Amino acid sequence: MDITKDDLGKLLLVQAQDREVDGLKKRLAQVPEDIAAIRADIEAGKSAMEAAKKKSVEISLRRKEKELEMAQKEGAIKKHQTDLNAVKTNEAFKALLKEIEEAKKAVSESETVVLTLMDEGDIATKAEKAAQVDFKAFEAKQGELIKGLEARAAELEVSLAAAEARRKACLESVPAALCDTYEKTRQRRQGVGLSRVEGNLCTECRMILPPQSVLNVKKGHQLEFCGSCQRILHDIATVSSTPA
Ligand SMILES: [Zn+2]
Repeated sequence: MDITKDDLGKLLLVQAQDREVDGLKKRLAQVPEDIAAIRADIEAGKSAMEAAKKKSVEISLRRKEKELEMAQKEGAIKKHQTDLNAVKTNEAFKALLKEIEEAKKAVSESETVVLTLMDEGDIATKAEKAAQVDFKAFEAKQGELIKGLEARAAELEVSLAAAEARRKACLESVPAALCDTYEKTRQRRQGVGLSRVEGNLCTECRMILPPQSVLNVKKGHQLEFCGSCQRILHDIATVSSTPA
C-alpha cells in the first residue's frame, strides 16, 4: 500500500487517542468493581453489628428463662411449706422438707446465674451500642467513597466522549485503506497498531528488522510491517498533539 509519512503521522495521533480511550475505558470498568468491593465491606460491617445485637438478645432471653425458672421454684417452695401442715406421717414430712431444701438450693443457683447474665447483658448491650455507632460511621464513610467514585465515573464518561470525538476527527484525515489496516492491526495486537523503528529494532516487540525493511520505513512511501509482531512500522520520533 502506498502511503506518505504525513499519513503515518496522522495515524500516530489516532494511536495516541486510542491509548487515551483505552485507558479511560479501563478506568471506567474498574469503578463498578471498586463500588462492589465497598458495598461488600458495608455488608460485612453490618453483619458484625447484627452479631453484637444477636448476642445481647440471646443473653437477655437466657436471663428471662432463668428468672422464670426461679419464680416457679419459689412458687413450689411456698406450696410445699403450706403442704407441711397437712402431712400425716413423719416420712412424708421429712420428704417434703428435703424437697423444699433442694428447691431453695436450685433458687440460689439460679440467682447466681441470673446475676452473671445481668453482668454479661450489660457488657453485651454496651458492645451492641458501640457496634451500632461504629457501623453508622463506617457506613457514612463508605457511602462518601461510593459517591466519590460515582462522580469520578461521570467525569471519566465525559473525558471518554471527548477522547472518542478527537479520535474520530483524527481518523477522518487518514486514507480509508490505511485506517482499515490500522484498525485490524490494532485489534490483533493488544490495541497497539503502530511501532516505531529505533535503529534496526521494532520498539514494540524488540525484534531486529531486516535492513531493507528499515530502509523502506525511512523512505516512508509504502506500508511496512514488522515481520515478528505484524505492527505497522514508522520512524517518526514525535508528533504534534493537535491534529493536522
Ligand atoms: Zn515488532
